Amino acid sequence: MNRRISLPKYILTPQKKGNTVYTKMSYPVHCGRYSVLETDHHVFHFNLNNEIIRAKAKGDVWGHPHEWLKRTAGNDWVFYSTGGYTGVFEATGEYYLPNFRYPTNSVLGGHPFRLQEIHSLADNWHQILLELLGKVEFTLSAETQCNCTHKKLHDFLTKATANTPHNLEKKARLLFDIIGGRISVLPPDARHVDYNLIPLTIAQGCLYKCRFCKVKNAALFAEKDQSEIRSQISSLKNHYGADLKNYNSLFLGEHDALLASAGLITFSLEEAYREFNFSNSYPEGSNVFLFGSVTSLLEAPEQLFQDLENLPPLIYINIGLESADQETLDKIGKPISAHQVQQAFDRIQDINNRYNSIEITANFLMDDTLPKNHYPKIIELIRDEQTFTKPKGTIYFSPLTFGKPSRARLFEFNRLKILSKFPTYLYIIQRL
Ligand code: SF4
Repeated sequence: MNRRISLPKYILTPQKKGNTVYTKMSYPVHCGRYSVLETDHHVFHFNLNNEIIRAKAKGDVWGHPHEWLKRTAGNDWVFYSTGGYTGVFEATGEYYLPNFRYPTNSVLGGHPFRLQEIHSLADNWHQILLELLGKVEFTLSAETQCNCTHKKLHDFLTKATANTPHNLEKKARLLFDIIGGRISVLPPDARHVDYNLIPLTIAQGCLYKCRFCKVKNAALFAEKDQSEIRSQISSLKNHYGADLKNYNSLFLGEHDALLASAGLITFSLEEAYREFNFSNSYPEGSNVFLFGSVTSLLEAPEQLFQDLENLPPLIYINIGLESADQETLDKIGKPISAHQVQQAFDRIQDINNRYNSIEITANFLMDDTLPKNHYPKIIELIRDEQTFTKPKGTIYFSPLTFGKPSRARLFEFNRLKILSKFPTYLYIIQRL
């Protein structure tokens, strides 16, 4: 009996040239060079190492054609939902709503990974590709003359399927080993590059070990030395391989890189910029993201900001202020004073006003259980003390509780956003 296996229709576009700038649009615009495989039922994207980076299904089974699954360098699948578009951009500054499989502090969205079509694609993409590869092999073996297009698909699928889920997980763990541990939280400003960044740990731990914080680790603050940083950069270059070209952004880890000595910060940026060849990256421009604290911001020498301003990348520093109310700071176990928060807020404004390529952003907590003066004190800072509307110095509100989407908290956020004289968005905690 003859087996009949028919090859489905497909279009393979190797190394497609995507956008060269990260653009905020109401439909998906992908930045970078990537290969696209489109079949009757699916669209898959692969990076320059032939590792899967995005996937979606086609047709009625898929909720909305603008929705995607994205796989991160930490090997998490993130579902980008449109959130119906209503209010998503106003709340997040982006036209999509990221949904994770791990607990986070989002106040928007549902549980898309419970939907069969979504979790099944995230879990079975490799099997789908293997089945396609089997059909191509069968077709090629049955052909009397070699079909070049089928052969190209065969070669591509052979390379792509070699990057199995197991190997991709191993590769993510290797990344964490290189940088000294998984990054439990990325700065909210990383949304400007869709969280596509290379992590470089220049200091571990943080000073405060705040009681409320769910992303901290036990490490006491300690900076790395120059040779450790050089060695990390060299391993990272190797790790990202051919796909390095798709990166123009750096995350200086970990929780308070601004507390590292000024010389180490500029050394790390210069080394990374040169070694990662950011001046020739496929996406235009370059960016650096890092966290700072009230203490590190107040102690940072002015010369550091002058030096950073003279480097090519745009620099985004995110400071966790959490509250300007002493009772709230005490309640959440953040060991700083309201006076220090005021000083830090003033310095943020001063630096944002004077430096073009540096933006310092700030986070405040949101929760209905916080003391009654929490919001009024924030409003004093972000509205009453400001004469004009500010174009930079984004204020992020970070919901305190994890895994509890809440309409009431979204309502509270909208009220604060309307009052604020700064760009104001929700901070949805995302790891690498
Ligand atoms: S909020 Fe920042 S400083 Fe406080 S414990 Fe968490 S990581 Fe450390």
